[in-house]
Amino acid sequence: MPDFAGPGLSKEEEYFAKKEFERIKKIAEENEKKLLEQEREELRQLHWMRCPKDGMELAEIVFMGVHVDKCTHCGGIFLDAGELDTLMDAGKQQDGMLGKILGVFR
Ligand SMILES: [Zn+2]
Repeated sequence: MPDFAGPGLSKEEEYFAKKEFERIKKIAEENEKKLLEQEREELRQLHWMRCPKDGMELAEIVFMGVHVDKCTHCGGIFLDAGELDTLMDAGKQQDGMLGKILGVFR
């Protein structure tokens, strides 16, 4: 917070200077928020369906009834939120072994 109580400023001038500062500060904060939203959207578009390790394209495949994303370059498999739980449930229904392996990630 800047010091407005400099010499030559009346109480009224000080009050309006503070008001003006708060107004400008609010606009700056709104602009910053818009920039962050814009940056987040740009990042989302840049990274959408791209491998987090090498940036190559991901292809959606069906594995045990779940749509998972597989990298077309390195073969890495990536799950969306909740998909691991679905796979674990499917694993338990089979022989339980996959469920135990996947349980490590819980
Ligand atoms: Zn990859």
